[in-house]
Amino acid sequence: MLTLEEIFKDFHLVKLNLKTPFRGVSYREVALLKGPSGWGEFSPFLEYDQYESASWLAAGIEAAFGDQTPLERDEISINATLPAINDRESIEKIMALYPGAKTVKIKVGNDKKVNLARIATVKEIDSDLKIRLDVNGSWSVEEAVDNLKDIQDQIEYVEQPCSSLDELRALKRRIDVPIAVDELLRKNSDPFSLNLEDVADFLVLKVSPLGGVTRAKKMAEHYQIPVVVSSALESAVGISQGLQLAAALKGYSNDSGLATGVLFESDVGAHPIIAGKIRVSMIEPIGLLANSCSVDRIEWWQRRVKDSFEIYRKLCK
Ligand SMILES: [Mg+2]
Repeated sequence: MLTLEEIFKDFHLVKLNLKTPFRGVSYREVALLKGPSGWGEFSPFLEYDQYESASWLAAGIEAAFGDQTPLERDEISINATLPAINDRESIEKIMALYPGAKTVKIKVGNDKKVNLARIATVKEIDSDLKIRLDVNGSWSVEEAVDNLKDIQDQIEYVEQPCSSLDELRALKRRIDVPIAVDELLRKNSDPFSLNLEDVADFLVLKVSPLGGVTRAKKMAEHYQIPVVVSSALESAVGISQGLQLAAALKGYSNDSGLATGVLFESDVGAHPIIAGKIRVSMIEPIGLLANSCSVDRIEWWQRRVKDSFEIYRKLCK
């Protein structure tokens, strides 16, 4: 059994600033750990408790200390990810960070007019882009129907338009729009237990919140619903694990949300996007010391690892 001493043997905290605020954060703190298998990442968002963070730790431990999954391919096509920004110049600037992307995932919120304007701007910039919307569960069924009824034919899918399974099922009865589930899986204490029939057309699989490549792959096999591999604003180290998952899934070809590294001012490594694709590769992080955080923050993160490790150990039993 792995010990905390082994986790902390080669443990680093890195702060990565974002070019533009994303999901309400302007920077990420990311703990990186090195083990015999390579580098792993532990980077639950700051507000997550130890129960939610335990899956993130499991993913980091798997990467650093676990076995590698056999791969089916060596490059992955990606989608652009557009934060909730509105002026054309900023949207153009962000979209230019994803050369060759054929799909864009647009974050949308509660203001219908703003959402429609954002979508229209993206289409003006490139009318061929396939469009996904990500609502992060913030609409009621009524709002979802109202927001989607005029644009349902223009989108590939809407990701988590409402938060609960019942709401999504009710929405599906009202409007024929493909639905992807994300929070429903990754915020669930037992994500294998859901009845997703008549609800989900796509599963969004994110390695860190789902507890690692092996577990996320099992989820794809369990549900037999088309998947889209995505990420949780990890550093290039965490993104490597997302690439591993996308490369390990049989018959997988959807554009993946694994290009969010471009949203950072600087990262611990690079996964360059060439013609809309990223090569599957591991990262040897650079600039760890230059990025050094205060002793207080390192201690806070070590405490967080300890608390999450308790939960992780119970899950392993
Ligand atoms: Mg999402």
